[in-house]
Amino acid sequence: MKPVILMIEDNDQNLYLMTYLLEHAGLEVVSACDGARGIEVALGLLPALIILDIQLPGMDGYEVAARLRASPALAQVPIVAVTSYAMPGDREKVIAAGCTHYIEKPIDPDSFVGEVLCQVRGAASCEE
Ligand code: MN
Repeated sequence: MKPVILMIEDNDQNLYLMTYLLEHAGLEVVSACDGARGIEVALGLLPALIILDIQLPGMDGYEVAARLRASPALAQVPIVAVTSYAMPGDREKVIAAGCTHYIEKPIDPDSFVGEVLCQVRGAASCEE
């Protein structure tokens, strides 16, 4: 069975590119375009990993991460934050919100899949 990735992302172009790359690597991708829907889908799906855009309409990614982590069923699911705020301290802020990894946008198609796969397998095996 293919690992299922939940992608919470409101931008169609980013969604398309990341979905394309992950499906090409043999993963299954389910998407949600805002945080509320993303949380609902996550609870029903229990995905292998969640990709979380930080800039979302309504509830931002920090709040989404905190709410996902508040659910015991999702406490261990890796959450990869993707954000284009390239500000000092962002990494620390997304990790503090409960994310396991941080990728800056625009994503690098050459390294994106490798980073996601390594998080799916377990963050302990990932190079930082
Ligand atoms: Mn966005």
